[in-house]
Amino acid sequence: MSLQLDARQRAMLAEMGLRFVLPDAGTSEPQRGVMPAPPSAPAAKPVLPPKGVSVSFPIPSAPAPAGVDAMAWDALETAVASCQACPLCASRTQTVFGVGDRQADWLIVGEAPGETEDQRGEPFVGAAGQLLDNMLRALGLDRRAKVYIVNVLKCRPPGNRNPGPEEVAQCLPFLQRQVQLLQPKVILAMGRFAVQALLGTGDAIGKLRGRVHRYQDIPVVVTYHPAYLLRNLPDKARAWADLCFAQAVLREAAAAAENARSDKVLDA
Ligand code: SF4
Repeated sequence: MSLQLDARQRAMLAEMGLRFVLPDAGTSEPQRGVMPAPPSAPAAKPVLPPKGVSVSFPIPSAPAPAGVDAMAWDALETAVASCQACPLCASRTQTVFGVGDRQADWLIVGEAPGETEDQRGEPFVGAAGQLLDNMLRALGLDRRAKVYIVNVLKCRPPGNRNPGPEEVAQCLPFLQRQVQLLQPKVILAMGRFAVQALLGTGDAIGKLRGRVHRYQDIPVVVTYHPAYLLRNLPDKARAWADLCFAQAVLREAAAAAENARSDKVLDA
């Protein structure tokens, strides 16, 4: 595999605790503390599953807030800011709608705001956010360009407790609408609550990694939450491999779209 990282990218990854070496021949799993190279082109084509995979995990359904499925970005943000659909509205400092490029190819979905996010009104800030930013920069991405970042829950659960299923159900229509408006080429689901909300499965992340799933017919790649990675350093290399895989999936989707456009032109 040819190396595609420049000195700056290598320095960023070194800051994350990842050193760059060529993967051993025949080794498919990332080694501990060793980062696989990002693909300039996918080594093997990611296999996209059939469209319309059904959701089976029992997240309770909740009625969507009136009109949310027809809202444009600004109306949606206003609706979230004034939402009182679940008890989390009582303890929040402010809602955390999302941040980034509303034309982005990448959508990154986390779980719920923590204390710093609740205070600043922005997802993935603090130490976990810095780790995510470093990983994105190593791929040539930035949280304010080419990427949009959201959480499943828009309000902080008190004491950073886990989101409740009813809270996820109440808040999910907002995320669904964000996905409809953004139409990303790939979704990166970070952490088990993002995975459960998007894919409707309670399976462990380790079991779901390395495959392409779908949400609203958009490819989804599963990985660990950066806050988890801060406590489990060996899994940083796996998360990096997941980001590289997501990049390969995006390139594959973009190439397929370009081929379809070319075919249309030839047919016209
Ligand atoms: S968490 Fe979501 S559903 Fe609950 S109050 Fe906040 S915005 Fe509304």
